Amino acid sequence: MRTNWARSHAYRAARLARPLALLEVQELVAANERVRALGSGHSFTDLADTDGVLVVLDALPGHVSVDTARATATVSSGLLLGDVAEALHSRGWALPTLPSLPHITVAGAIATGSHGSGDRTGSLASLVCGLEVIGPDGELCSIRAEEPDFDGWVVSLGLLGIVTSVTLKVVPTYNVRQFVYTSLPWQVFLNDFDEVMASGYSVSVFTTWTGDAVNQVWIKTTATSESASLRSAVAAHVPMHMIPGQSSDAVTAQLGIEGPWHDRLPHFRRAFTPSSGEELQTEYLVPRRLAADALAHVRRLAPRFAPLLQIGEIRTVAGDRLWLSGAYNEDVVALHFTWKRAWQQVHDALPLLEEALLPLGARPHWGKCFVATRDKLEAQYPRLADFAALRRRSDPDGKFANAFTHRVLGY
Ligand SMILES: Cc1cc2nc3c(=O)[nH]c(=O)nc-3n(C[C@H](O)[C@H](O)[C@H](O)COP(=O)(O)OP(=O)(O)OC[C@H]3O[C@@H](n4cnc5c(N)ncnc54)[C@H](O)[C@@H]3O)c2cc1C
Repeated sequence: MRTNWARSHAYRAARLARPLALLEVQELVAANERVRALGSGHSFTDLADTDGVLVVLDALPGHVSVDTARATATVSSGLLLGDVAEALHSRGWALPTLPSLPHITVAGAIATGSHGSGDRTGSLASLVCGLEVIGPDGELCSIRAEEPDFDGWVVSLGLLGIVTSVTLKVVPTYNVRQFVYTSLPWQVFLNDFDEVMASGYSVSVFTTWTGDAVNQVWIKTTATSESASLRSAVAAHVPMHMIPGQSSDAVTAQLGIEGPWHDRLPHFRRAFTPSSGEELQTEYLVPRRLAADALAHVRRLAPRFAPLLQIGEIRTVAGDRLWLSGAYNEDVVALHFTWKRAWQQVHDALPLLEEALLPLGARPHWGKCFVATRDKLEAQYPRLADFAALRRRSDPDGKFANAFTHRVLGY
């Protein structure tokens, strides 16, 4: 039986299809009552599942083409981010941001609003300026940025059809250096929050949420900027994994060694499996203006969830206009939790966090574990009703809906 990467969900689909040609995908979609696309299966729940046909696009011919005049790249949506990144870099181009893991698909990352960190960088989805989508009748259509509903189409949770190709804004390639600091006192971090998060192009703060100091600060600077420095913290002189005790072989080069963006922005190396998959993840994206309140709430609750936690991570993401994005309409701070793989205990702990964070406007990461459903999410997503209407227009019979969307969104 096929499971997701974390083995926290066994897919219930009646059939898994791996078409070799686009036409085959179109025929599959047209011929079946329920269909859904599966990316690399790194989401932690039943989000990608269906009771019909689960379509994996990894056997389709992959392409990456760059329009140098427009500074855009059009890529097959089933490719892994790491492969797209290497292809772009070899042609002198780059993405401004990447999530921590290069092993996930372009379409899966975009459909869930996946993001990296950076005060001035948005999620991967915020780079999208065009999509090719197979609708419920099997027709392939182009969705362009100029269309009025475009901002609803990008972070789609797979509900609007099978995305086959994505056009992304790109920038000239660049190099990055990564530095790790340890033992930053919590009080300094809280007092200097903006300064710490601005100490590099992309900054991640790793913490167990307990104790007097945060565990590690990972600062990724562009090679042309000054070396990172962090007052009151201790520079690491050996490479470090963010989870205490795990091998640093899996993480991208640290110690300020310069390298291409795609080999430094993700935390994990392309050639390694980042961990055994013995984990679950949760993340809430909170309006940045309320970061201090959110951090205080989580620290207060930490003794209650500490036994379940492997590590927490704090990142920043720039706001965008995408209806279902965690960063819709404002800059956010992303509060992430890597749990032990103990679903029931994690499930029992999540209401604690949600009671504290949802009133601040927190939005759960669609690809990770959370318990809130539509009644609670409506307030967080002002365009949720518009998305529901777009979904009704584009897929009136609910071909792409599944148990997750029924439970969480009511359709
Ligand atoms: C170790 C680890 C590290 C992670 N790090 C980060 C991180 O740094 N930042 C972050 O934001 N998230 C992170 N995530 C979460 C991850 O980015 C999301 O779960 C993402 O959706 C996974 O992509 P996937 O290809 O595995 O998608 P899947 O889990 O396979 O699918 C996710 C969703 O995308 C839809 N989908 C997939 N392909 C298509 C398609 N072609 N057309 C339409 N819909 C499609 C599916 O139907 C489903 O709804 C991490 C996850 C893991 C396991």
